[in-house]
Amino acid sequence: MASKQQIHVGAVAIGGGAPVAVQTMTKTETANLAATMEQIRTVAEAGADIVRVAVPREQDAEALKTIVATSPIPVIADIHFNHTLALKAIAAGAHCVRLNPGNIGGAEKVAEVIELAKLRGTPLRVGVNSGSLPKHLRELEYENPVEALVTAAIETVELMERLDFTNFKVSMKSTSVPNTIASNRLLAERIPYPLHLGVTEAGTKWSGSLKSAVGLGTLLADGIGDTIRISLSTFHAEEEVKVAWEILKALKLRERGPDLIACPTCGRLQFDMDTVVADVERRLEAYEDPIEVSVLGCAVNGIGEARHADFGITGAKDMGMIYSKGEPLKKVPTAQLVDELFKEIDRYYAAGKTVQRDESAAADARAWLAENEDVTAMTPERIAALEAAAAQQDESAGAVLEAMLTPSGQGTGDPHGPEVDGAEAVVLDETVSPVAGRRFSRS
Ligand code: SF4
Repeated sequence: MASKQQIHVGAVAIGGGAPVAVQTMTKTETANLAATMEQIRTVAEAGADIVRVAVPREQDAEALKTIVATSPIPVIADIHFNHTLALKAIAAGAHCVRLNPGNIGGAEKVAEVIELAKLRGTPLRVGVNSGSLPKHLRELEYENPVEALVTAAIETVELMERLDFTNFKVSMKSTSVPNTIASNRLLAERIPYPLHLGVTEAGTKWSGSLKSAVGLGTLLADGIGDTIRISLSTFHAEEEVKVAWEILKALKLRERGPDLIACPTCGRLQFDMDTVVADVERRLEAYEDPIEVSVLGCAVNGIGEARHADFGITGAKDMGMIYSKGEPLKKVPTAQLVDELFKEIDRYYAAGKTVQRDESAAADARAWLAENEDVTAMTPERIAALEAAAAQQDESAGAVLEAMLTPSGQGTGDPHGPEVDGAEAVVLDETVSPVAGRRFSRS
């Protein structure tokens, strides 16, 4: 469920049904203005809605003034241990301050920060980390780490409420994916405030992306989470942003830029699809429209499951084909497939998003497809489609069978035999039954 409360970090609404916001954190020394601003501009271009910068020293708090004034996206100051820096960050105009009340030096210092935040209308991100829970929860953490995390988060929320402060979002960070999922599910039921999601210290680009996709994706699919950050061990913060977007796009929560679909390849592949897919992916980065582009490794399967793609290519050894919305556009030598694909995409945009079709080239492509397609080939796509159809048939056959095995008249009011959904009595026709010949060999 989306959080009930909404806050604003700069102009970005968080929670209360607003689109899930994408965050990242700069990896530069914050006081190095040139490097920090360059990274902020890079992540903003990649699609970050909000950026966080570390403020561990006086000079970083000082640099915040310029950063806030020149950043194209709202800036969150990340503070630990030092409430004076939190005060300075708020005074510098930070759009939000992240702090964990448990490590800021006591209730009085927290109250001082809250006082200024109220005065300046600055929201906070408050939270807890699995690695730094309060002492009184250590035993509970040992027995039940999820409950310990949630208890610590709720204690933090109650502290904010006692200070009459509600302009905040909450985060609970754990390195464990199952604990991240379980604790956020519990917390979302118990508090109305927006939730920031992340799997802390998730790992490298590969493993961290997967952990985050599983952890955050599970929660987001349940409607939990209002802002996300993917933590990756890379200096390139924009990589975190790209992963966050892929998660949101996969769940159809937000749209940004093209969607590339590609077959998994198999033994029918006759060209270097790895290179082609990487090339298409790289060149699509220049487009902002949510266009869908497909790459198929062969034409034996026809256009198949890529029928809905705005544009696509399918290759063979020497020749390939470009298609749009399931219709062939033209055949071209395999070496020119990618260039020609992008020419077609550019023509489409130049013509106001209208596919430009040359009928004679399309006829050639159709003929090529007919030659290369093999409707009898057991491709991975067709096997999957057959399995899905069989599963569906098994389901309906199961219902028929169950109805047949129901003792006469039981529950139907008909003394002569079974009914299915109040219909006429069913007699299984062995010649058309999807389970013919298999019914009795199953345990
Ligand atoms: S049969 Fe399917 S998976 Fe195999 S190369 Fe062709 S399109 Fe790709």
